[in-house]
Amino acid sequence: MTGRLVIVGAGQAGFALAAKLRALKDTRPITMIGLEDVFPYQRPPLSKKYLLGEMSFDRLTFRPDAWFAENDVEVRLSTFVEEIDRDKKTVRMQDGSVLEYENLALATGSTPRTLPASIGGDLEGVYTVRDKRDADRLAGEMKAGRRLLIIGGGYIGLEAAAVARHLGLEVTLIEMADRILARVAAKETADIMRGIHDAHGVVIREKTGLARLIGEDGKVRAAELSDGSVIDVDVVIVGIGVTPNDRLAQDCGLDVGNGIVVDEFARTSDPSIFAMGDCVTLPWQGGRIRLESVQNAVDQAESVAATLAGGTAPYEPKPWFWSDQYDVKLQIAGFNLGYEETLLRPGAREGAVSIWYFREGRLIAVDAVNDAKAYVSGKKMLETGKNPDKALLADPATDLKQLMA
Ligand code: FAD
Repeated sequence: MTGRLVIVGAGQAGFALAAKLRALKDTRPITMIGLEDVFPYQRPPLSKKYLLGEMSFDRLTFRPDAWFAENDVEVRLSTFVEEIDRDKKTVRMQDGSVLEYENLALATGSTPRTLPASIGGDLEGVYTVRDKRDADRLAGEMKAGRRLLIIGGGYIGLEAAAVARHLGLEVTLIEMADRILARVAAKETADIMRGIHDAHGVVIREKTGLARLIGEDGKVRAAELSDGSVIDVDVVIVGIGVTPNDRLAQDCGLDVGNGIVVDEFARTSDPSIFAMGDCVTLPWQGGRIRLESVQNAVDQAESVAATLAGGTAPYEPKPWFWSDQYDVKLQIAGFNLGYEETLLRPGAREGAVSIWYFREGRLIAVDAVNDAKAYVSGKKMLETGKNPDKALLADPATDLKQLMA
């Protein structure tokens, strides 16, 4: 009989692995262990429609709870895996119980960075957004007229700003770097998104860090910024990035370095243990990257399922990402790492625009703002290796289909 697969982490990647194995008619015993008290669900709406109150939790879950028993996937919720014993091939839970595995898959995700308590990070009213519980607690604070400070101008911070303005809060967003989205997007994309937030009344202060949060009776009341100014605040959202949950792997001696080190089959340095999703560092064009996206979590997990079921194809990431802010849909295809040149292409409809990234003269990524056509065409060009003529691409009169031919 095929031995048990134990999946640590009942999130996007953990679920995708179990679901794909069953879709491939693989009948091995599967146990999925998750720290949260709910069955697996998608996180993106937590900083979008769910936080806004426009989407209920049952629309977030991937499958009805009954699906897991019906498909013979044992799920242990509210359970933390504390230790892996690679010699005995067992995992130990925090309640002391032990479970044997033949294969283990680590899908432990990542944890938002927090502010140190020494600068007020532990005050009441200071939030990060990673799971349902965070979003539920934060939603209770999102009341019209309250003053919200967002620390960090990445996607989660900007999405939360959009939700907060919609709900009538006063929003200030500070970003320590020269500009918002500095880590993930080009200046052109940042300029467009900043303009949209300006128009919606968000005060964005770039090159501005946080000196400290000031509390009263344990609750946040004000923030002193790096330029010495002090602003009154009622609520704070910290969106300053995440760190991979690789501790469990490190403690049992697996190779780890800013994420669990895996090969192109998502195998760790122990061949019986796989890892996938936000918690890994994976091979990419001769180097290593971490990808924090639904696309990567799902595709990497599905490739692990295929490998377990006897497949031999390596995982080749085809990155894509999206962000919803107000009525703006930003869609991203490719990975802009190391870009040297960008090109801005106005779209056919008002407000539609795309930014194309090139490295060594080759297209590597595209950001499309309210421009589904540019996104679909760019994605296709990246998949087929088609390099568009830049002069033609920059000309809005050029039909993108012509560039794909
Ligand atoms: P997760 O889905 O985080 O699952 C990991 C699970 O493992 C968690 O439930 C955790 O509690 C559990 N766990 C960890 N350690 C243990 C342990 N030792 N024992 C038991 N359980 C454990 N991506 C996009 O592509 N587009 C978006 O628009 C987008 N928006 C996002 C908005 C928010 C607010 C957040 C938080 C993320 C967003 N993402 C988005 C990122 C995307 O959700 C993640 O990349 C994806 O969830 C990663 O999947 P994962 O399975 O690796 O981790």
